[in-house]
Amino acid sequence: MELVRRKDRQGAVRQPRLLLRFGVLSAVLVSALGITTGLALGKSIRTRTIDDAVRTAQVLADSGIRPFVSPEDLAGDFTPLSPRRRAELDSTLGTSLSSNGIVRLKLWNLQHWLVYSDKDEIMSRWFPADTALNDAFAGRITSVITDLSKPEEQEERDFGRLLSVYVPLRVDESGNFTGNSQGKIVGAFEIYLPYKPIAAAIRSDSLNLYKTLGVGLILLYLGLFQLMRSASLRLRRQAAQNQHQALHDALTTLPNRVLFRDRGDRAIALAARQGTVVSVLLLDVDRFKELNDSLGHQLGDQLLVKIGERLNERLRDVDTVARLGGDEFAVLLVGLAHAADAAIVAQDLEALFEEPFAVGSITVDVRVSIGIASSPDNGDDTDALLRHADVAMYQAKAAHTGVESYNADADHYRPERLALAGDVRRAIGANELVLFYQPKLDLATNRIVGCEALVRWQHPERGLLSPGLFMPVIESTELIKPLTLHLIDQAMHFSRQLRDIGHHISIAVNLAARNTVDTRLPEQVAEIMHRYDLPFDALELELTESAVLDNPNRAQMVLEEISALGVPISVDDFGTGYASISYLTQLPISVLKIDQSFVGDVTVNPKSEAVVSFTVALATSLRLKVVAEGVEDRPTIERLGELGCDQAQGYFIAKPMPAAALIQLLDVAGAHAFDKLEISA
Ligand code: C2E
Ligand code: MG
Ligand code: MG
Repeated sequence: MELVRRKDRQGAVRQPRLLLRFGVLSAVLVSALGITTGLALGKSIRTRTIDDAVRTAQVLADSGIRPFVSPEDLAGDFTPLSPRRRAELDSTLGTSLSSNGIVRLKLWNLQHWLVYSDKDEIMSRWFPADTALNDAFAGRITSVITDLSKPEEQEERDFGRLLSVYVPLRVDESGNFTGNSQGKIVGAFEIYLPYKPIAAAIRSDSLNLYKTLGVGLILLYLGLFQLMRSASLRLRRQAAQNQHQALHDALTTLPNRVLFRDRGDRAIALAARQGTVVSVLLLDVDRFKELNDSLGHQLGDQLLVKIGERLNERLRDVDTVARLGGDEFAVLLVGLAHAADAAIVAQDLEALFEEPFAVGSITVDVRVSIGIASSPDNGDDTDALLRHADVAMYQAKAAHTGVESYNADADHYRPERLALAGDVRRAIGANELVLFYQPKLDLATNRIVGCEALVRWQHPERGLLSPGLFMPVIESTELIKPLTLHLIDQAMHFSRQLRDIGHHISIAVNLAARNTVDTRLPEQVAEIMHRYDLPFDALELELTESAVLDNPNRAQMVLEEISALGVPISVDDFGTGYASISYLTQLPISVLKIDQSFVGDVTVNPKSEAVVSFTVALATSLRLKVVAEGVEDRPTIERLGELGCDQAQGYFIAKPMPAAALIQLLDVAGAHAFDKLEISA
């Protein structure tokens, strides 16, 4: 029923049919070749054999007969030969004729008188000339296989079919017979040879020819057929291989997305008729990128193969495990009574990963996150189930729960959420999304050196909305791209304004995960900077670890381009992500912003202090700057200074404020060092 088997069967039927067609066609062609060649060669055998006979007749005429005949016998005015001359010729020619197998001899003069023949009854008679005789009189040796129907042939009828050969008789200038073709023709011999031996020779030669030709052609045909058979076999194998490749993952040999979709759609259609449930489990290896980087690609590949094998062993034959790409596997469970059964299987599959994997000489602990979506509730085709299982899988990943079933309420893609996104689109156009700015203080100089732009929604009905209320939704849609651009534009417009009045501080804008994989972003950022005629370090971009690690390869490309322009990139909420810190060495990062959860209690919680110290040490050795965010009181900022943080941001310095308020603050602080400690005192 499935794609592969069905196609295999079709292939198997098509190939023999092709072979049969070729067999018949080549048989017809080889036969046609045999017949035409046979006919042509047969004809040439016949011609050659008759030519041989004619040449023999000519030699006989020249050597065995002509010497005994005299040119006078053929004198122009016909006078029958005297009985004496006849008797003479009878006796001289008689033996020559019979010893040479000549059945009958006729000697014609130019007036068609039969001057002499070994048969008395026809001698001295006149017969009308036929073509062959006229040809001989014109100088050509001719031959006819005669059926003895001519009047002068009555006497030969007892001999059966004969070959009659006409040989012209010429005389030279002195009137003697000559073999010279220039001589004058005075008459002709007609020599009858029995056709039977000639026919027998033709038959036997032809038979030999046909036998050889037949055997040759049969061998040719068999050779061709064998050639075609092996070619068709190879083709078939190749086709099967291609088909397998098209439907399977090259690394694990598991079905790929195409085959998975095909089986899924069939299973869903069947389940709809039977009233059963089909579930799709989407399984993603947690932090596979790091595993892969530390294991090396070869062992990483080996690990993926082993994961596929382990999943396959656990499942029933009717279920399908596919590799969709990267570290993503999908499982199709068919014929379930309830959607809840899928959760049980998913738990089992998750438990399979409690046992470590042996790759190369090491054992690796692997964890997975599994998302479940089931028909008919979560979709009625494989793509919908895959999409929803993907949403559930991300929830499982984010919440570290291992397994999650699709829950429409938590899905950012669900229609109500998208309505909100539509509202945001309108809000961008109506300039309702505004930026507030929160200053960053340099702890060494006590000067405001930068600020972070934080978005607010000036909602016409609901008032000022904080980003937590709407950004997560927008960040899960494509809308985040135009919004981010809009905000960078707004921030840089403000930066231009600030610089024009002498405040040279940098402004940081937050990026979402989708922005970091948007390959157009670098170019768009460059365009904005040019438009406002700003140096690239007037802007800073903040992104969280998880934003980057969703798709590290693409993010790396985009971030490298941005950083190459000269725009600094900072890691926001540092310390809260689940990533290993290896990305710090791979990505072009220049600032770490320690999360406020560590900053808030740095003075009272030694563990938080340890995190801050560690971050500072790490940053120092990687030559990164450290910014502490969420500084709410004096002891904290003092402690942060002691611990070696470069900058601080938080309510203690200033809350996020509208642009105009920041200008005022900078005007006050700008003239001299912004001594927060004094101001707030
Ligand atoms: P974030 O980038 O980590 O921004 C810092 C957040 O901490 C801001 O919240 C800020 O108001 C708050 N904060 C600053 N100092 C203190 C303090 O001393 N105490 C406390 N308790 N909080 C402090 P906000 O403005 O609500 O933004 C929340 C998050 O929303 C941001 O976290 C950022 O991840 C996101 N966000 C804000 N604006 C944007 C934006 O324009 N684009 C994107 N993609 N995300 C944004
Ligand atoms: Mg931020
Ligand atoms: Mg932050």
